Amino acid sequence: GFKCGIVGLPNVGKSTLFNALTRTAAAQAANYPFCTIEPNTGEVAVPDPRMKAIAAVAKSQNIIPTRISFVDIAGLVRGASKGEGLGNQFLANIREVDAIVHVLRCFEDDDITHVEGRIDPVSDAETVETELMLSDLESIERRIVQIRKRATTAKDKEALAVLPLMEKALELLQAGKPVRILLKDIAPEDLPILQELNLLTSKPVLYVCNVAESDAVAGNEHTRAVAAMADAQGAESVVISAAIEAEVAQLSDEEGKEFLDAIGLEEPGLDRLIRAGYRLLDLITYFTAGPKETRAWTVKRGAKAPQAAGVIHTDFERGFIRAQTIAFDDYVTLGGEVAAKEAGKARDEGKEYVVQDGDVMLFRFNT
Ligand code: GDP
Repeated sequence: GFKCGIVGLPNVGKSTLFNALTRTAAAQAANYPFCTIEPNTGEVAVPDPRMKAIAAVAKSQNIIPTRISFVDIAGLVRGASKGEGLGNQFLANIREVDAIVHVLRCFEDDDITHVEGRIDPVSDAETVETELMLSDLESIERRIVQIRKRATTAKDKEALAVLPLMEKALELLQAGKPVRILLKDIAPEDLPILQELNLLTSKPVLYVCNVAESDAVAGNEHTRAVAAMADAQGAESVVISAAIEAEVAQLSDEEGKEFLDAIGLEEPGLDRLIRAGYRLLDLITYFTAGPKETRAWTVKRGAKAPQAAGVIHTDFERGFIRAQTIAFDDYVTLGGEVAAKEAGKARDEGKEYVVQDGDVMLFRFNT
Protein backbone atom coordinates (compact mmCIF):
# COMPACT_ATOMS: atom_id res chain seq x y z
CA GLY A 1 0.00 0.00 0.00
CA PHE A 2 0.90 3.67 -0.20
CA LYS A 3 2.26 5.31 2.92
CA CYS A 4 2.44 8.87 4.25
CA GLY A 5 4.86 9.35 7.13
CA ILE A 6 3.82 11.85 9.80
CA VAL A 7 6.91 13.75 10.98
CA GLY A 8 7.67 16.84 13.02
CA LEU A 9 9.43 17.99 16.16
CA PRO A 10 8.29 16.54 19.51
CA ASN A 11 5.11 17.98 21.05
CA VAL A 12 3.66 19.44 17.88
CA GLY A 13 0.61 17.15 17.93
CA LYS A 14 1.66 14.24 15.71
CA SER A 15 0.34 11.50 17.97
CA THR A 16 -2.87 13.38 18.66
CA LEU A 17 -3.44 13.66 14.94
CA PHE A 18 -2.45 10.08 14.24
CA ASN A 19 -4.74 8.78 16.97
CA ALA A 20 -7.61 10.76 15.57
CA LEU A 21 -6.77 9.42 12.13
CA THR A 22 -6.88 5.80 13.11
CA ARG A 23 -9.26 6.22 16.05
CA THR A 24 -7.01 4.05 18.10
CA ALA A 25 -5.16 4.73 21.28
CA ALA A 26 -2.17 2.83 19.95
CA ALA A 27 0.06 5.86 19.88
CA GLN A 28 -0.24 7.43 23.29
CA ALA A 29 -0.16 11.22 23.18
CA ALA A 30 1.81 12.58 26.10
CA ASN A 31 3.59 15.77 26.92
CA TYR A 32 6.95 14.09 26.69
CA PRO A 33 9.54 14.10 23.89
CA PHE A 34 10.45 10.65 22.52
CA CYS A 35 7.09 9.27 23.63
CA THR A 36 6.42 7.55 20.33
CA ILE A 37 9.30 5.19 19.73
CA GLU A 38 8.03 2.49 17.40
CA PRO A 39 6.50 3.65 14.18
CA ASN A 40 2.80 3.03 14.19
CA THR A 41 0.95 2.42 11.00
CA GLY A 42 -2.73 3.09 10.56
CA GLU A 43 -4.88 2.46 7.51
CA VAL A 44 -7.55 5.05 6.83
CA ALA A 45 -10.47 5.09 4.42
CA VAL A 46 -10.23 7.72 1.69
CA PRO A 47 -13.45 9.78 1.81
CA ASP A 48 -15.01 10.11 -1.64
CA PRO A 49 -18.63 11.24 -2.18
CA ARG A 50 -18.66 9.63 -5.65
CA MET A 51 -19.00 6.18 -4.06
CA LYS A 52 -22.43 7.04 -2.67
CA ALA A 53 -23.61 8.35 -6.03
CA ILE A 54 -22.47 5.21 -7.84
CA ALA A 55 -23.94 2.92 -5.17
CA ALA A 56 -27.32 4.65 -5.52
CA VAL A 57 -27.34 3.99 -9.26
CA ALA A 58 -26.01 0.43 -9.02
CA LYS A 59 -28.24 -0.32 -6.00
CA SER A 60 -25.21 -1.69 -4.20
CA GLN A 61 -25.62 -3.28 -0.79
CA ASN A 62 -22.21 -2.15 0.40
CA ILE A 63 -19.76 0.67 -0.15
CA ILE A 64 -16.09 -0.16 0.25
CA PRO A 65 -13.68 2.79 0.19
CA THR A 66 -10.06 2.56 -0.81
CA ARG A 67 -7.42 3.09 1.88
CA ILE A 68 -4.04 4.68 2.43
CA SER A 69 -1.64 4.29 5.32
CA PHE A 70 -0.29 6.86 7.71
CA VAL A 71 2.79 6.10 9.77
CA ASP A 72 3.45 7.97 12.99
CA ILE A 73 7.21 8.43 13.00
CA ALA A 74 9.17 9.01 16.21
CA GLY A 75 9.98 12.61 17.10
CA LEU A 76 12.94 14.24 15.47
CA VAL A 77 15.27 16.67 17.19
CA ARG A 78 18.12 18.89 16.10
CA GLY A 79 21.18 16.66 15.54
CA ALA A 80 19.24 13.62 14.35
CA SER A 81 21.45 13.23 11.29
CA LYS A 82 24.32 12.71 13.73
CA GLY A 83 22.34 10.02 15.48
CA GLU A 84 21.14 12.15 18.40
CA GLY A 85 17.84 11.39 20.13
CA LEU A 86 16.14 8.75 18.06
CA GLY A 87 17.75 10.19 14.96
CA ASN A 88 18.89 7.09 13.14
CA GLN A 89 15.63 5.30 13.75
CA PHE A 90 13.73 8.33 12.54
CA LEU A 91 15.69 8.57 9.30
CA ALA A 92 15.33 4.84 8.63
CA ASN A 93 11.57 5.01 9.13
CA ILE A 94 11.18 8.02 6.90
CA ARG A 95 13.07 6.23 4.13
CA GLU A 96 10.26 3.68 3.96
CA VAL A 97 7.38 6.06 3.26
CA ASP A 98 6.24 7.43 -0.11
CA ALA A 99 5.43 10.96 1.06
CA ILE A 100 5.91 13.15 4.12
CA VAL A 101 3.19 14.81 6.18
CA HIS A 102 5.05 17.41 8.20
CA VAL A 103 3.15 18.58 11.29
CA LEU A 104 4.00 22.07 12.52
CA ARG A 105 2.99 23.55 15.84
CA CYS A 106 0.92 26.67 15.23
CA PHE A 107 -0.78 26.76 18.64
CA GLU A 108 0.34 28.58 21.79
CA ASP A 109 0.11 26.66 25.06
CA ASP A 110 2.46 27.44 27.94
CA ASP A 111 1.73 24.06 29.53
CA ILE A 112 3.10 22.16 26.57
CA THR A 113 6.85 22.35 26.22
CA HIS A 114 8.20 23.44 22.87
CA VAL A 115 11.60 21.79 22.30
CA GLU A 116 13.03 25.01 20.91
CA GLY A 117 11.33 27.21 23.48
CA ARG A 118 9.18 29.30 21.14
CA ILE A 119 6.41 28.98 18.53
CA ASP A 120 7.91 29.44 15.07
CA PRO A 121 6.66 26.82 12.59
CA VAL A 122 8.73 28.04 9.64
CA SER A 123 11.91 27.76 11.67
CA ASP A 124 10.75 24.34 12.97
CA ALA A 125 10.23 23.20 9.39
CA GLU A 126 13.77 24.30 8.56
CA THR A 127 15.15 22.44 11.58
CA VAL A 128 13.60 19.19 10.39
CA GLU A 129 14.45 19.80 6.74
CA THR A 130 18.07 20.54 7.68
CA GLU A 131 18.41 17.16 9.38
CA LEU A 132 16.98 15.47 6.29
CA MET A 133 19.29 17.42 3.98
CA LEU A 134 22.34 16.59 6.08
CA SER A 135 21.43 12.93 5.96
CA ASP A 136 20.96 13.04 2.17
CA LEU A 137 24.21 14.95 1.73
CA GLU A 138 26.10 12.35 3.72
CA SER A 139 24.44 9.52 1.80
CA ILE A 140 25.25 11.03 -1.63
CA GLU A 141 28.80 11.96 -0.72
CA ARG A 142 29.36 8.42 0.45
CA ARG A 143 28.02 6.85 -2.77
CA ILE A 144 29.11 9.30 -5.46
CA VAL A 145 32.85 8.56 -5.30
CA GLN A 146 32.28 4.98 -6.47
CA ILE A 147 29.73 6.04 -9.09
CA ARG A 148 32.09 8.66 -10.56
CA LYS A 149 34.81 6.05 -10.80
CA ARG A 150 32.57 3.48 -12.43
CA ALA A 151 31.22 6.07 -14.88
CA THR A 152 34.58 7.44 -16.00
CA THR A 153 36.95 4.48 -15.92
CA ALA A 154 34.62 1.55 -16.56
CA LYS A 155 31.99 3.45 -18.60
CA ASP A 156 29.50 1.49 -16.57
CA LYS A 157 26.02 2.04 -18.07
CA GLU A 158 24.16 2.12 -14.79
CA ALA A 159 26.63 4.56 -13.27
CA LEU A 160 26.48 6.80 -16.34
CA ALA A 161 22.70 6.94 -16.08
CA VAL A 162 22.58 7.83 -12.40
CA LEU A 163 25.61 10.15 -12.15
CA PRO A 164 24.10 13.35 -13.66
CA LEU A 165 21.18 13.16 -11.23
CA MET A 166 23.47 12.52 -8.30
CA GLU A 167 25.62 15.50 -9.24
CA LYS A 168 22.52 17.71 -9.45
CA ALA A 169 21.23 16.46 -6.11
CA LEU A 170 24.64 17.02 -4.52
CA GLU A 171 24.78 20.57 -5.85
CA LEU A 172 21.34 21.36 -4.41
CA LEU A 173 22.12 19.87 -1.02
CA GLN A 174 25.43 21.71 -0.81
CA ALA A 175 23.48 24.92 -1.47
CA GLY A 176 21.14 24.02 1.40
CA LYS A 177 18.21 23.08 -0.82
CA PRO A 178 16.05 19.93 -0.81
CA VAL A 179 16.32 17.52 -3.77
CA ARG A 180 12.52 17.83 -4.13
CA ILE A 181 13.18 20.92 -6.29
CA LEU A 182 14.33 18.57 -9.09
CA LEU A 183 10.84 17.05 -9.28
CA LYS A 184 9.42 20.24 -10.80
CA ASP A 185 10.91 19.65 -14.24
CA ILE A 186 12.43 16.21 -14.21
CA ALA A 187 12.32 14.13 -17.42
CA PRO A 188 9.84 11.23 -17.00
CA GLU A 189 12.58 8.66 -17.66
CA ASP A 190 14.73 10.17 -14.89
CA LEU A 191 12.03 9.93 -12.22
CA PRO A 192 12.53 6.22 -11.42
CA ILE A 193 16.31 6.78 -11.25
CA LEU A 194 15.84 9.58 -8.73
CA GLN A 195 13.40 7.49 -6.72
CA GLU A 196 15.91 4.64 -6.74
CA LEU A 197 18.36 6.92 -4.90
CA ASN A 198 15.77 6.93 -2.08
CA LEU A 199 16.71 10.33 -0.72
CA LEU A 200 14.69 11.81 2.12
CA THR A 201 14.36 15.29 0.65
CA SER A 202 13.12 14.07 -2.73
CA LYS A 203 9.87 12.81 -1.19
CA PRO A 204 6.84 15.06 -1.66
CA VAL A 205 5.77 17.05 1.41
CA LEU A 206 2.48 18.29 2.83
CA TYR A 207 2.63 20.77 5.72
CA VAL A 208 -0.02 20.41 8.41
CA CYS A 209 -0.52 23.48 10.59
CA ASN A 210 -1.80 22.30 13.97
CA VAL A 211 -3.79 25.20 15.44
CA ALA A 212 -5.84 25.91 18.57
CA GLU A 213 -9.58 25.26 18.28
CA SER A 214 -10.26 28.99 17.98
CA ASP A 215 -8.06 29.24 14.87
CA ALA A 216 -9.41 26.15 13.09
CA VAL A 217 -11.54 28.12 10.63
CA ALA A 218 -9.45 31.18 9.82
CA GLY A 219 -5.91 30.08 10.72
CA ASN A 220 -3.47 32.57 12.24
CA GLU A 221 -0.25 34.46 11.52
CA HIS A 222 1.76 31.23 11.86
CA THR A 223 -0.36 29.29 9.37
CA ARG A 224 -0.07 32.14 6.89
CA ALA A 225 3.71 32.06 7.21
CA VAL A 226 3.66 28.29 6.59
CA ALA A 227 1.37 28.71 3.58
CA ALA A 228 3.81 31.21 2.06
CA MET A 229 6.74 28.86 2.69
CA ALA A 230 4.87 25.90 1.16
CA ASP A 231 3.91 27.98 -1.84
CA ALA A 232 7.52 28.93 -2.49
CA GLN A 233 8.43 25.22 -2.49
CA GLY A 234 5.53 24.17 -4.70
CA ALA A 235 4.13 22.24 -1.72
CA GLU A 236 0.68 22.31 -0.09
CA SER A 237 -0.37 23.16 3.44
CA VAL A 238 -3.56 22.47 5.41
CA VAL A 239 -4.83 24.00 8.65
CA ILE A 240 -6.07 21.48 11.22
CA SER A 241 -6.79 21.49 14.92
CA ALA A 242 -5.62 18.14 16.21
CA ALA A 243 -7.58 18.80 19.41
CA ILE A 244 -10.83 19.17 17.45
CA GLU A 245 -10.08 16.11 15.35
CA ALA A 246 -9.40 14.08 18.50
CA GLU A 247 -12.82 15.06 19.85
CA VAL A 248 -14.68 14.46 16.60
CA ALA A 249 -13.05 11.04 16.25
CA GLN A 250 -14.83 9.96 19.43
CA LEU A 251 -18.27 11.09 18.30
CA SER A 252 -20.81 9.40 16.06
CA ASP A 253 -20.99 10.76 12.50
CA GLU A 254 -24.11 12.76 13.35
CA GLU A 255 -22.76 14.22 16.59
CA GLY A 256 -19.50 14.99 14.84
CA LYS A 257 -21.33 16.92 12.15
CA GLU A 258 -23.18 19.01 14.74
CA PHE A 259 -19.95 19.67 16.60
CA LEU A 260 -18.19 20.82 13.41
CA ASP A 261 -21.23 22.90 12.40
CA ALA A 262 -21.10 24.75 15.68
CA ILE A 263 -17.44 25.63 15.06
CA GLY A 264 -18.11 26.61 11.47
CA LEU A 265 -16.30 23.73 9.78
CA GLU A 266 -17.88 21.94 6.81
CA GLU A 267 -16.10 18.64 7.25
CA PRO A 268 -13.50 17.04 9.49
CA GLY A 269 -10.03 18.40 8.89
CA LEU A 270 -8.91 14.79 8.63
CA ASP A 271 -10.94 14.33 5.45
CA ARG A 272 -9.03 17.24 3.94
CA LEU A 273 -5.78 15.79 5.21
CA ILE A 274 -6.44 12.33 3.79
CA ARG A 275 -7.42 13.73 0.41
CA ALA A 276 -4.36 15.98 0.38
CA GLY A 277 -2.23 12.94 1.25
CA TYR A 278 -3.80 11.05 -1.62
CA ARG A 279 -2.97 13.88 -4.04
CA LEU A 280 0.53 14.08 -2.60
CA LEU A 281 1.07 10.40 -3.43
CA ASP A 282 -0.18 11.11 -6.96
CA LEU A 283 -2.89 8.48 -6.70
CA ILE A 284 -6.18 8.24 -8.56
CA THR A 285 -9.33 6.22 -7.95
CA TYR A 286 -11.33 3.96 -10.19
CA PHE A 287 -14.53 2.15 -9.21
CA THR A 288 -16.21 -1.20 -9.63
CA ALA A 289 -19.97 -1.29 -9.17
CA GLY A 290 -22.62 -3.97 -8.84
CA PRO A 291 -25.52 -5.08 -6.67
CA LYS A 292 -23.16 -6.54 -4.07
CA GLU A 293 -20.90 -3.53 -3.66
CA THR A 294 -19.55 -0.30 -4.97
CA ARG A 295 -15.86 -0.27 -4.40
CA ALA A 296 -13.09 2.28 -4.84
CA TRP A 297 -9.62 1.15 -5.93
CA THR A 298 -6.33 3.01 -5.98
CA VAL A 299 -3.77 3.22 -8.76
CA LYS A 300 -0.81 5.48 -9.36
CA ARG A 301 -1.62 8.21 -11.89
CA GLY A 302 -0.60 6.95 -15.34
CA ALA A 303 -1.38 3.29 -14.61
CA LYS A 304 -2.70 1.24 -17.53
CA ALA A 305 -5.80 -0.96 -17.51
CA PRO A 306 -4.03 -4.30 -16.81
CA GLN A 307 -2.19 -2.79 -13.81
CA ALA A 308 -5.51 -1.45 -12.52
CA ALA A 309 -7.01 -4.93 -12.87
CA GLY A 310 -4.02 -6.29 -10.97
CA VAL A 311 -4.96 -4.20 -7.92
CA ILE A 312 -8.09 -6.36 -7.59
CA HIS A 313 -6.31 -9.65 -8.25
CA THR A 314 -3.02 -10.64 -9.83
CA ASP A 315 -4.91 -13.14 -12.04
CA PHE A 316 -6.88 -10.24 -13.51
CA GLU A 317 -3.65 -8.62 -14.64
CA ARG A 318 -2.11 -11.80 -15.99
CA GLY A 319 -5.20 -12.81 -17.96
CA PHE A 320 -6.31 -9.30 -18.90
CA ILE A 321 -8.32 -9.13 -22.14
CA ARG A 322 -10.25 -5.88 -22.16
CA ALA A 323 -11.85 -3.33 -19.84
CA GLN A 324 -15.29 -1.80 -20.16
CA THR A 325 -14.95 1.78 -18.98
CA ILE A 326 -17.58 4.38 -18.14
CA ALA A 327 -16.63 7.84 -16.88
CA PHE A 328 -18.11 8.66 -13.46
CA ASP A 329 -20.24 11.56 -14.76
CA ASP A 330 -21.70 9.44 -17.55
CA TYR A 331 -22.38 6.55 -15.20
CA VAL A 332 -24.31 8.70 -12.75
CA THR A 333 -26.12 11.10 -15.10
CA LEU A 334 -27.16 8.37 -17.55
CA GLY A 335 -28.21 6.05 -14.74
CA GLY A 336 -25.82 3.09 -14.79
CA GLU A 337 -24.15 0.53 -16.98
CA VAL A 338 -27.01 -0.46 -19.30
CA ALA A 339 -28.03 3.12 -20.03
CA ALA A 340 -24.42 4.15 -20.56
CA LYS A 341 -23.97 1.29 -23.05
CA GLU A 342 -27.09 2.36 -24.95
CA ALA A 343 -25.82 5.92 -25.10
CA GLY A 344 -22.49 4.70 -26.45
CA LYS A 345 -20.66 5.89 -23.34
CA ALA A 346 -19.30 2.50 -22.30
CA ARG A 347 -15.88 2.31 -23.94
CA ASP A 348 -14.14 -0.93 -24.70
CA GLU A 349 -10.48 -0.39 -23.79
CA GLY A 350 -7.38 -2.52 -24.27
CA LYS A 351 -3.98 -3.06 -22.66
CA GLU A 352 -2.63 0.41 -23.44
CA TYR A 353 -5.53 2.34 -21.89
CA VAL A 354 -4.40 4.83 -19.24
CA VAL A 355 -6.91 4.74 -16.40
CA GLN A 356 -8.62 8.04 -15.60
CA ASP A 357 -9.71 9.20 -12.16
CA GLY A 358 -13.38 8.28 -11.68
CA ASP A 359 -13.57 5.51 -14.28
CA VAL A 360 -16.18 2.86 -13.51
CA MET A 361 -14.56 -0.32 -14.80
CA LEU A 362 -15.42 -3.91 -15.58
CA PHE A 363 -12.59 -6.26 -16.54
CA ARG A 364 -12.68 -9.23 -18.90
CA PHE A 365 -9.89 -11.71 -18.36
CA ASN A 366 -8.78 -15.29 -18.99
CA THR A 367 -8.33 -17.56 -16.03
P1 GDP B 1 3.88 14.67 19.36
O1 GDP B 1 5.04 14.61 20.31
O2 GDP B 1 4.17 15.55 18.18
O3 GDP B 1 3.35 13.35 18.97
O4 GDP B 1 2.74 15.49 20.13
P2 GDP B 1 1.45 14.93 20.89
O5 GDP B 1 0.36 14.62 19.95
O6 GDP B 1 1.86 13.88 21.88
O7 GDP B 1 1.03 16.26 21.65
C1 GDP B 1 1.85 16.83 22.66
C2 GDP B 1 0.96 17.57 23.64
O8 GDP B 1 0.33 18.67 22.97
C3 GDP B 1 -0.16 16.70 24.18
O9 GDP B 1 -0.33 17.03 25.55
C4 GDP B 1 -1.37 17.13 23.38
O10 GDP B 1 -2.57 16.98 24.10
C5 GDP B 1 -1.08 18.59 23.13
N1 GDP B 1 -1.70 19.07 21.88
C6 GDP B 1 -1.73 18.47 20.67
N2 GDP B 1 -2.42 19.22 19.78
C7 GDP B 1 -2.81 20.33 20.47
C8 GDP B 1 -3.57 21.50 20.09
O11 GDP B 1 -4.03 21.67 18.96
N3 GDP B 1 -3.76 22.45 21.09
C9 GDP B 1 -3.27 22.30 22.35
N4 GDP B 1 -3.49 23.25 23.25
N5 GDP B 1 -2.59 21.19 22.73
C10 GDP B 1 -2.35 20.23 21.80
